[in-house]
Amino acid sequence: MDELRHLFRRAADHAADYRLSLPDRPVGVPVDQAALNEAFAGPLPDAPTPPERVLADLVAAAEPGLVATAGPRYFGFVVGGASPAATAADMLAAGWDQIAFNAVTSPAAVAAETAAGTWLKELLGIPATASAGFVTGGQAANTAGLAAARHQVLADAGWDVERRGLTGAPAVRVFAGAERHATIDRSLRLLGLGTDALRPVSTGPQGAIDPDALAAALRDAGPGPTIVCLQAGNVNTGACDDLRRACDLVHRHGGWAHVDGAFGLWAAASPATRHLVDGLETADSWACDGHKWLNLPYDTAFAFCARPDVHAAAMSYAAAYLVGSGGAPAGADLTAESSRRARGFAVWAGLRELGRDGVAALVERCCALARRFADGLSAAGFEVVNDVVLNQVLVGFGDDARTDRVVAAVQTDGTCWAGGTTWRGRRLMRISVSNATTTEADVDRSVAAIARLAHGIGGELVH
Ligand SMILES: *Cc1c(COP(=O)(O)O)cnc(C)c1O
Repeated sequence: MDELRHLFRRAADHAADYRLSLPDRPVGVPVDQAALNEAFAGPLPDAPTPPERVLADLVAAAEPGLVATAGPRYFGFVVGGASPAATAADMLAAGWDQIAFNAVTSPAAVAAETAAGTWLKELLGIPATASAGFVTGGQAANTAGLAAARHQVLADAGWDVERRGLTGAPAVRVFAGAERHATIDRSLRLLGLGTDALRPVSTGPQGAIDPDALAAALRDAGPGPTIVCLQAGNVNTGACDDLRRACDLVHRHGGWAHVDGAFGLWAAASPATRHLVDGLETADSWACDGHKWLNLPYDTAFAFCARPDVHAAAMSYAAAYLVGSGGAPAGADLTAESSRRARGFAVWAGLRELGRDGVAALVERCCALARRFADGLSAAGFEVVNDVVLNQVLVGFGDDARTDRVVAAVQTDGTCWAGGTTWRGRRLMRISVSNATTTEADVDRSVAAIARLAHGIGGELVH
């Protein structure tokens, strides 16, 4: 027994050492992937290996290839860093080894998901009566939300899609902003609706859907099964669709409004940004990540649905007998997985650690730091291309080739990490401030490094 305790403690010590090293660690410097692969490679051993040795070998092999995404100066994609209590709770979830399938396999996991789901809906302003499925990411949450949408719009047309499938079904039209996230397209493929069902709707200057264009598109389409994918938080600009107006249009048309709010839905948690997602409560389903802006461990996201019965009808394989049991749908009834990791413990712990005020402060601080980034880079002579309404900043450093060179230089330098993107036909640097541990000093140090590297690269600064 002592060996097990020793092993777990060593794993926890390694994790803590790593986390404590993050503020000083080079961020995302290039690694030799072939050498890393080699460290893990080799024949599958015939004989068993003692666990202590396995752990030591794993740490040695992995350490050079770890990316400091959880650290304070990683601004790539939309990446947070899992908070202390949430990370510790996730370690417990692994130690407890629970199956969050239902209340029989783990009453504790179901209770944690239920409580955390209630808190999440409260923080986001989603109706308390909505269901909350704990899924792996925004991708899975979009798939669950759109599965519920598919169920309902076809049920309204007299078609039972769960039983009959899509062969011979009435055609479903799916409207989405031209700047939707690519996961929407994959969800439509997985659900058999296909990307040809997509009718892109034009977007305004910051990438939010144009409500007049949506109104016209719905009018032109006429009656029929209709799903509309809205967005809170454009991955480039942070722009949010006018959810109140769009949901109203969709509902007048008899359609289903799904909101992809992977990170942007968290605007709801602060009075300072709440107006950006005004009307979100009028949607029918919502996708939201925990592992991005809420700083929970991977893989954590939430699929909410205004009608739990529709959510379960689309996702559960036990819905029929749940009706008899009188229980509300929970656990695996609301997700595509059957046996599942108990991610509710980490969600509960992370929310408890922050509290309502802490979540609001996290959102506000990241937005303020994004503005500080934008101000600093503008002052240094670079072009901030978007309205910095949330935590995203888009920066140009001259023409496309020059911007790409600056992005590459920043990624090699290691002071901070930011990715490149193409927005409105232009190559840009994309900066996302989503980590609770990022400070003003981290932003200032990163601005200084970016400016030093950009000024060191020849060529014209101005586009
Ligand atoms: C990140 C993101 C997704 C996908 O989320 P995953 O957690 O990576 O699956 C979907 N939509 C938007 C708007 C996102 O930002």
